[in-house]
Amino acid sequence: MVAFLERAAADPAVVAIKMTVYRIGDDTPFVRSLIRAAEIGQRSGLRYVYAGNLPGLVGPYEHTFCPGCQTAVVQRVGYRILAVSLADGACKNCGTKIPGVWT
Ligand SMILES: [Zn+2]
Repeated sequence: MVAFLERAAADPAVVAIKMTVYRIGDDTPFVRSLIRAAEIGQRSGLRYVYAGNLPGLVGPYEHTFCPGCQTAVVQRVGYRILAVSLADGACKNCGTKIPGVWT
């Protein structure tokens, strides 16, 4: 399983990795592979990279960041939204439009 994730993390054709995990530790090859995949996506220029569904285990990759100023415009833990910093679909800090449906 981890070897599969590591290969997927390094494959530029992979845009999403989705898996069901029941229980997992916070420092496992699985979590490290997901974080590595997110880092690669970010370095490759993707604007919105997530490594969610592991609440509290993936650092900043649970949040949505503004590509204009890097402010965390939506902060999450798992599926729970902690804070939103948008006004009319734009970053409150710099005004960059953030695609999505924001209610
Ligand atoms: Zn911004």
